[in-house]
Amino acid sequence: MEYIDIQGTSLQVSRIALGTWSIGGWLWGGTDKAQADATIERALDLGINLIDTAPVYGLGSAEELVGKVIKRYNRDRFVISTKAGLEWSGEPTKVVRNSSTPRLQQELDDSLRRLQTDFIDIYHIHWPDTRVPHAEVAAFIQKQLQSGKIRAVGLSNYSVEQLQDFDALCPVNVVQPPYNLFERDIEEALLPLCKEKGWTTLTYSPLCRGLLSGRMTIETQFPAGDLRRIDPKFSALMLPQYLKAVNDIDAWAQKEYGKSVTHLAARWLLDQPQVHVVLWGARKPEHLDAIDAILGWALDEKAIKTLETFVNAAVKTPVRMGVMPPPMRTAQQSV
Ligand code: NAP
Repeated sequence: MEYIDIQGTSLQVSRIALGTWSIGGWLWGGTDKAQADATIERALDLGINLIDTAPVYGLGSAEELVGKVIKRYNRDRFVISTKAGLEWSGEPTKVVRNSSTPRLQQELDDSLRRLQTDFIDIYHIHWPDTRVPHAEVAAFIQKQLQSGKIRAVGLSNYSVEQLQDFDALCPVNVVQPPYNLFERDIEEALLPLCKEKGWTTLTYSPLCRGLLSGRMTIETQFPAGDLRRIDPKFSALMLPQYLKAVNDIDAWAQKEYGKSVTHLAARWLLDQPQVHVVLWGARKPEHLDAIDAILGWALDEKAIKTLETFVNAAVKTPVRMGVMPPPMRTAQQSV
């Protein structure tokens, strides 16, 4: 495993972290708890020490699963990253952004209980809530840092401007944006800002929600409740373009490296100078099999360009949107 230090902290983390969104099952067509448990154990065996989770993943169940595994080991073996600022209710479940102080306080208390721990190593605001001033959120975060309940500050899905404004009130350690061969919007302004500020990046959706796994075809069906049923990249119109890029890269990866599209898509990420950690979404131990072949080598500049050329040639009308953003609260919803 490759490890890096998180700036402004004493945390040292694996450059591949376990992401637990799909382990939670919600929006991923359900989950298998035994498989999820075995996946976390396998991640530890591979030298992964950073686990990224969130209250909203499985509506509490991903944190609970992580908490059960932590309990079997020494807490020091883990660097736990979780989040706050989303609220859910109703049937079918609706999620809205809510970073009001009472909501953040409730989520922090719930996360500590579910994770069976006294502190959280990296605490993110999951999505910016423009109804709450940065100063209010920053004051809450500062208070938790002082009490030792959290150890590092992360912001996820914040714009460049929002990051700068928040950082002026409470120094940021970690930024968590989407990034993969098909979703590269952050290259323009966000990654340069991270470099300038020295923020550590934890990038998410490395396989573009499984699209870059090489296992999908035009016939792939997703179960009820799987967000890819409504993700525009998986639509009948767009999927053929993305699959062409995947197939072209896979053929080239086999010929040049004896590896697969999964390995090259992940290595491409790790070789970007401003990517510190890749959050690997896995819900079965086999999803982690690729990791050995990703580590211990690097792509050269020519190979990086070749990969990007395959994508540009196949995807003529890229879908700019990544994960579908949760909506803001309406005036009627809780504050
Ligand atoms: P991803 O790598 O783009 O997609 C993960 C999915 O890809 C898996 O659930 C699995 O889908 C498939 N997969 C993974 N490894 C595979 C392999 N070796 N072979 C075949 N299929 C494979 O990652 P993601 O889950 O979207 O994002 C990773 C993590 O980032 C999340 O778990 C979460 O921790 C974090 N994240 C954060 C945010 C945020 O707003 N901050 C948003 C999204 C994600 P199947 O199980 O269907 O096969």
